[in-house]
Amino acid sequence: KPVVAIVGRPNVGKSTIFNRIAKQRIAIVEDEPGVTRDRLYAPAEWLGHVFSLIDTGGIDIDDAPLMTQIVAQAQIAMEEADVIVFIVSNPEGVTDADEHIAQMLYKTDTPVVLAVNKADNPEQRQEIYDFYSLGLGDPYPISGVQGTGLGDLLDAVVAKFPQHQDTPEDASVHFSVIGRPNVGKSSLVNALLGKERVIVSDIQGTTRDAIDSRFQDENGQEFTIIDTAGIRKRGKIWENTEKYAVLRAQSAIERSDVVLVVLNAEEGIREQDKHVAGLAHEAGRGVIIVVNKWDTIHKDTHSMQQFTDAIRTEFQYLDYAPIVFVSAKSTQRVNTLPALIQKVAENHERRISSSVLNDVLLRAISVTPTPTINGKRLRVYYMTQVKSGPPTFVAFVNNPDLVHFSFQRFLVNQLRAAFDFSGTPIVIIPRQRK
Ligand code: GDP
Repeated sequence: KPVVAIVGRPNVGKSTIFNRIAKQRIAIVEDEPGVTRDRLYAPAEWLGHVFSLIDTGGIDIDDAPLMTQIVAQAQIAMEEADVIVFIVSNPEGVTDADEHIAQMLYKTDTPVVLAVNKADNPEQRQEIYDFYSLGLGDPYPISGVQGTGLGDLLDAVVAKFPQHQDTPEDASVHFSVIGRPNVGKSSLVNALLGKERVIVSDIQGTTRDAIDSRFQDENGQEFTIIDTAGIRKRGKIWENTEKYAVLRAQSAIERSDVVLVVLNAEEGIREQDKHVAGLAHEAGRGVIIVVNKWDTIHKDTHSMQQFTDAIRTEFQYLDYAPIVFVSAKSTQRVNTLPALIQKVAENHERRISSSVLNDVLLRAISVTPTPTINGKRLRVYYMTQVKSGPPTFVAFVNNPDLVHFSFQRFLVNQLRAAFDFSGTPIVIIPRQRK
C-alpha cells in the first residue's frame, strides 16, 4: 500500500488537510485518559486507490528549534513515503522555511506534489505563480477549510504512485508486536523466531525502511512479523520521540491482520500502555494482549486472575482480546502464540451468512425486547454482514437514532455468544430501512 506524507512548516494547515483526506476509524467510546486522539497516520482512499497518509507535522522533538523540527519532519517523509505532499500557504507566499524544505526535497527521488493552501477564493487560486520559484513543478491551489482543490491534488498524488510490481499473493498471517519501550518486544520477536522455523528472514517490505520476518510454525502455517526493524533499536534523533514511536506502531498496525499488545508484568499497566492499545483497537485489527516478563512475578493462585481483572478494567474497549501470560526470557508459553494468532486472524476475517445471522437476531430480540426511547420502540428488521476484517454488520432499523451504545453492545454480545469472534472487534452500523 503506498504511503503519502504531508510536510510543510507550522501553520500552513497540514492537519486540516490530513483530516480532510483521512478515513474515520473505530471510535473509542469510553473517554479513557491516556488514549490520544492525535492522528499522525491514517488509512485513506481516492478513486479506488487505497493508501496510508502521514502528517509529519505531528512529530515534534521536544525543545528542538524550528529548523531542526522541519528538517527531521522532511527526513521522515523522505524515508517513509512513496509520494510527498509539500504544503505552503498562499497568503504568506514563499518563506525561508519553505525554501529550506524545498532544498531538502530536491535531494530525494521520492516524487513531490506542491500544494498551495488557504487559496480560498477564485482570485487567490489565480495568484499561485510565485510558487513556481520553489522549483517543484505545478503548484496545486487548495483550501483545507473549504475542501476545494483536493480532488485535483489527489489526482496528481495517485498518478505518482509506484506501479505495483507483480508480487505473488502472500497468504501468511501478518502480525505486529507493539508496546511501550522495554516491555520486551524485541525479546518476544526473538523468542518467536528462535522457536519456529524461519523461512526467509528480513524480507524487504514495501516501505523503504520496513523489514519483515517470516516464519512457519510446526503445523506449516506461515506468519510474517511486520516491521522487525522498527522493533529493534535505531539511532536517529527523532527515533526516540514518542510521536515517532506512535507513527511506527500505526504504520505496522496498518499492515497487520493481528496486533500483539505487549505489557510488562513486572511494571504493571501504565498510561502509555493504554495509548498503544488504543491504536490497535481504533485500527480495527485483531488484538491479543501479551503479558510478558511473567517469570518475574511471584505467583500465588490469584496472580493471573488479578492481572486479568486489572487489564479488563483498564482496557474496557478491548474486552474481546485474549490475554496470554508469557516469558520471552524463558520462552514459557511463547509457543502458544502462533496458533492463537492464526485463530484471531480467522475470526477477524469471519463471514456469517445472512440467514444464520438473522436466526440469531430474531432469537435475541424475542428473548430481550428492543429498547423504547421517548415512547418510541426500536425495531430491528434484519442484519447483514457487509465486510470482514473486522466483521462489520449493517442493522436495518426503523430509526437509527434509537440505536444507542448499550443496544449495539447487546447485539455484539449476541454475535460473540453465537460465533467465535474472539480477538476481533465487531462493528455495527445502524441504517434506516427504506
Ligand atoms: P523492547 O524495548 O520492548 O523491545 O524490550 P526488549 O526486548 O529490549 O527488552 C527490555 C528488557 O527486558 C531487556 O533487558 C530484556 O532482557 C528484558 N526482558 C524481555 N523479556 C523478558 C522476560 O520475559 N522476562 C524478564 N525477566 N526480562 C525480560
